[in-house]
Amino acid sequence: MISFEKMYITISESLGIYTKDQLYELFTTKEHGLPISGHRAAIIQSRVFFFCVVFAVLVPAWSIIDLLFLPSALWGGLLTIRAVSGIVFAILAWLSRRQPTMKLARLLLAGMLAVTPIFYLASGYWIEGYPLTSQEQIIAGLYGLLPFVMVAGLTLFPLTLFEFLAYAVPLFLVTLVSAFPGSEAEIPQAVSTMWLLILILGVALFSSLTQLRYMLSQVSRASYDVLTGMLTRRAGIEVLDLQFRLASMGGGSMSILYFDLDNFKAVNDTYGHDTGDKVLKTASEQICNCVRKGDSVIRWGGEEFVVVLPTADPREANEVVSRIMTAGVGERPEGGPVTASIGVAEVQEDNVNDWKAQIELADHRMYSAKTSGRARSIGVDGNAILWAEGSQAQAVNK
Ligand code: GH3
Ligand code: MG
Ligand code: MG
Repeated sequence: MISFEKMYITISESLGIYTKDQLYELFTTKEHGLPISGHRAAIIQSRVFFFCVVFAVLVPAWSIIDLLFLPSALWGGLLTIRAVSGIVFAILAWLSRRQPTMKLARLLLAGMLAVTPIFYLASGYWIEGYPLTSQEQIIAGLYGLLPFVMVAGLTLFPLTLFEFLAYAVPLFLVTLVSAFPGSEAEIPQAVSTMWLLILILGVALFSSLTQLRYMLSQVSRASYDVLTGMLTRRAGIEVLDLQFRLASMGGGSMSILYFDLDNFKAVNDTYGHDTGDKVLKTASEQICNCVRKGDSVIRWGGEEFVVVLPTADPREANEVVSRIMTAGVGERPEGGPVTASIGVAEVQEDNVNDWKAQIELADHRMYSAKTSGRARSIGVDGNAILWAEGSQAQAVNK
């Protein structure tokens, strides 16, 4: 008897799925972090660009074939349809050079996939009714292959299951409507067309999902620190750069917190590196628990963490600092709380030109916190918040 469990394991392993989370990530984008969305948007937009450039040239150029092999009465109309499609592809190619975001990537892909069915329906409408010779019918028949080209094109994009369906179902329906048998004699042809389409859709879906799975594993390997699970410095810089630009362009706030754990070397020296690792892991997890979903925690280096707080003004940034101090970031092995020196910097209030300047300023304030006694944060206004042991953090003037 066939074991369904075995079959499921074989199928999921061939897609590179070993955990429930990995399966979930292939269904929706809800669990995709910023690095993954960013990479996916960039890949989709660059492939849309390539496709659209090729089609912007090839679709109008095909008019030469139409001119040579189809009746001249058909040519003018088809040329117009081809020219319009070529222009739309060119516009889509031009738009796809913009800063990648998932929203734009999805829209461009939808636009690109929509042009061909519209072109297909318009040209089909135009050709229909003209009496054609058998040679002419071969050329006209090529138009019928266009939906297949688009469905096959989906294989090039790393898409989730729901995204794939959102693109594939309309393409499927357009083909179904146009291939719908007009008479009994056309039924075998229609059935084989739809069967072929379903087959290609299946292959395209498998290809899209495996690409997504591969991308997810590659990006998470490069983007998340193995020890703490926080963003790596490289991935963090991408987040910082993006959030900085969003805030400075829109005139909105964006704060960062620069953490450096206090006297951490002593933990390593006295209790060993493994104990040090555990302290690091707990501290970063605690910080992570105190911030919102849209905030990012970056392992900037050794025992230094940078927290990015989009839209947070200096007051809100200080609230996050107080929350972290109140919750604590773990216990030292010899007893007593793990503390950190923290520097805060904000885009508007500090009037910084780029994220590097913002980091430098936060680092500078963190250093002030170190030299003025550790276990405190220095805010944008230069005031300190002390890490009051165990109890509620209290604001005091420097
Ligand atoms: P300060 O309060 O001035 O920051 O003192 P500190 O001891 O924290 O500062 P220092 O920069 O001298 O020490 C940081 C230490 O962090 C040195 C390094 O051995 C340790 N470290 C860096 N990365 C790791 C890691 O991944 N695991 C462990 N266990 N230790 C690390
Ligand atoms: Mg340090
Ligand atoms: Mg330190």
